[in-house]
Amino acid sequence: MRRFMFQPKRLFLAGVALGAATLLAGCGSDSSGPQAEAKPTITVYSSRKEHLVKPLFDQYTADTGVEIRYITDKAGALIQRLKAEGETTPADMLITVDVGNLWQAAELDLFRSTQSTTLDANIPAELRDEQNRWAGLSVRARTIVYATDRVQADELSTYEALAEDNWKGRLCLRTSKKVYNQSLVASMIESLGEEQAETVVKGWVDNLATAPFSNDTKAMEAVLAGQCDATIVNTYYYGRLMKKTPDAALALYWPNQDDRGVHVNVSGAGITKHAKQPQAAQQLLEWMSSPNAQAVLANSNQEYPANAGVKPSEEVASWGEFKADNVHVEAAGRRQADAVKLMDRAGYL
Ligand code: FE
Repeated sequence: MRRFMFQPKRLFLAGVALGAATLLAGCGSDSSGPQAEAKPTITVYSSRKEHLVKPLFDQYTADTGVEIRYITDKAGALIQRLKAEGETTPADMLITVDVGNLWQAAELDLFRSTQSTTLDANIPAELRDEQNRWAGLSVRARTIVYATDRVQADELSTYEALAEDNWKGRLCLRTSKKVYNQSLVASMIESLGEEQAETVVKGWVDNLATAPFSNDTKAMEAVLAGQCDATIVNTYYYGRLMKKTPDAALALYWPNQDDRGVHVNVSGAGITKHAKQPQAAQQLLEWMSSPNAQAVLANSNQEYPANAGVKPSEEVASWGEFKADNVHVEAAGRRQADAVKLMDRAGYL
């Protein structure tokens, strides 16, 4: 059900005491208006881009009258900012991607624990922090993409198999500096143990056709260009590329279906330790886990809803079902530092 309601006039507070890369957008209520109730204003720091969070916030404001101010920036910058601001932070909530970032924010004691039967009911336990400091809100799968004109699907099987000799000079990868690959390798350490994981990563490096790429899209473009035959990406980047070039001879492959499953990660959010509006922020977080919001959130970036009761978009569903690695996503955060060191030893740039 979608409701259309009058939206209060927006007051953009762009650039107020913020760096050039950040945008502080807010909606100011007319406090002298006839409906002047003491509705709180929630402040959100988001490393998810504006076009992904704004529709959600607008919907929430339309439904509840609660206004949301937000800034967007890179995860690292927002985490550092929260840390520097300490008790004086205006932020009630941090939204970011990848459990590596959520875990780091929790380690820095930037979140408070939020007990919520709603979140417990809506979000599976393996996608939430065990101490309730953050909850996953969407799920992304990091999987193999291959050139359909040069690779038969039955040549593929697992992430580990991409380290074997038959892939020599045929593999492209995104840089190890990206948290997505750090989490993937962390999940391999968790499942395979450090020694075996290192052997695999070394094998990947030996098989590289060219130096690692700065992003998933460039890695897929290299596969398309014939520079290499397969790579590993988050599925929504594949979705974006296929939207732009529907005839691209690329396909997704779901690895490790006979063992642990495909590596999945989350985007998520937590209430800040020094939130000024913790209850209002909790209500927003709970709403974000609800079926209505979950559909908007997942579909805006072609991800998988974290709420298992919500179906993915038609496009995402068309990629087929797969078995996901259901190790608690938190393990990827806990093993992150080990993963970075391992990739360094393996010569993965
Ligand atoms: Fe991404």
